[in-house]
Amino acid sequence: TTTHIRRTPAANELAFGEDLEASLARLRGLQAAEGIPSYETRIHRLKRLKSALLVRKHEIAAAVSRDFGHRSRHESLMAEVFFTLRAIDYTISHLHGWMKVRRRPVSWLFPMGRACVAYQPLGVVGIISPWNYPVHLALAPLATAIAAGNRVMLKPSELTPTTSRLLEELLMEALGPEVASVITGGPATGAAFARLPFDHLFFTGSTRVARLILRDAAEHLTPATLELGGKSPAIIGKDFPSEKAAGRIMTGKLFNAGQTCLAPDHALVPAGRMGEFVAACCQAVAAMYPSLTGNDDYTSIINDDHYRRLESYVADARARGADVIEINPQAEAPDRVGRKFFPTLIANATPEMLVMKEEIFGPILPIMSYASLSEAIAFVNANPRPLALYYFGYDGRDIDEVINSTMSGGVTINETCLHAALDDLPFGGVGPSGMGEYHAFEGFETFSKKRAIFRQGPIDTGRFLRPPFAGAVDRAL
Ligand code: NAD
Repeated sequence: TTTHIRRTPAANELAFGEDLEASLARLRGLQAAEGIPSYETRIHRLKRLKSALLVRKHEIAAAVSRDFGHRSRHESLMAEVFFTLRAIDYTISHLHGWMKVRRRPVSWLFPMGRACVAYQPLGVVGIISPWNYPVHLALAPLATAIAAGNRVMLKPSELTPTTSRLLEELLMEALGPEVASVITGGPATGAAFARLPFDHLFFTGSTRVARLILRDAAEHLTPATLELGGKSPAIIGKDFPSEKAAGRIMTGKLFNAGQTCLAPDHALVPAGRMGEFVAACCQAVAAMYPSLTGNDDYTSIINDDHYRRLESYVADARARGADVIEINPQAEAPDRVGRKFFPTLIANATPEMLVMKEEIFGPILPIMSYASLSEAIAFVNANPRPLALYYFGYDGRDIDEVINSTMSGGVTINETCLHAALDDLPFGGVGPSGMGEYHAFEGFETFSKKRAIFRQGPIDTGRFLRPPFAGAVDRAL
């Protein structure tokens, strides 16, 4: 199971009660008045969103950095701006096709009838987003909801207040209060938000909060998409070089200082290769981050609570006899104030360690060894279904075995995280790592009602339903 620390309520926490409801009522009224937004209207909205993002890209990087203490500028421009722009561009180029009404075959039972599926907007969608990629995880689902013809209410994270204010400005400028609204606040506001009778609720965050959200959404039977986290394993196959695997795993682990839902959480290496793999990880980290505390490329941990949470995992692992290897090439003094948490390997980790029980969400990599591939697979299957699974290997049969005998939200072979960066692949977890998908056409589907439409032809098919039946079915069977 994955749990998260309890945070103290943010100072700006307000009871929004009525404002929330008024905002939803206003957007719902506007949606009804507009009817189904045309293709041109949707494209116009998406383009405005895109240009606002571009115009404010440096402000975005600065705001996120302020909220984190330090966030690598490159990581912000890449994850918050570039990937969001790509998602919008992809949507713009496919929207026409997605919006088409799809004809479906009509069986001989309904002669000359016509059937189709129309993708219609759901109405007003609520989006609750987390702090770790505060712009991308708010705007990527928002853009898709807009593309599907909806209006949106957004509740960004209270842990990134500067970015949330900027998001509000950006959305008001790009879409205006006629199409979107932004509600700021912490858990209490989030709970009130989740209780609103939205037409769909889209939540990205922790598994713990998702349980509360589903309970709240149940009140109005609000359908919900849950994008959650968990412990995504990386298995290194016996035929894959340690050096290459270590470099790729540490890249995925240290982007945003490990504060990525998709980051490889822990690694499983073949028995006898622990020392070699640890050395390769150290080398890879030293090459990517020759220094840490003052390095612009290395991101801070979001706040002191999370920093202490990570320290507690390391202390627990140490107390239980694991080999803890802190990677600190320049022997810098720990930077608690700047919250640069040194990349840390936990060699020979065991399942009872906290670091193997909780979602890590930081730059710590526990490493366990396994004797056979089936043992590694059994270990993965003994744990909750993860958001992602990474396998490093060349043997096709091994790859098939891993894919076919495990379950996860997504899979990347011989790399980490990249399945989520492909526009044409759906993205979402399974079981405790999530419910439903976005990205690709599946994202458009998530925010649309797939409406079944049948048009009766000139032949009176319905006569079979009207008595007197006179044994018509008996004859047909
Ligand atoms: P969180 O669950 O603590 O908070 C997420 C959002 O929910 C915030 O806006 C918060 O204010 C709000 N919230 C908190 N309590 C609430 C309540 N009772 N009712 C309604 N809303 C409430 O998550 P976080 O710490 O911001 O983000 C980290 C988690 O998110 C990790 O578990 C990570 O794996 C997951 N995550 C998943 C994805 C994904 O795409 N699958 C992406 C990023 C992060």
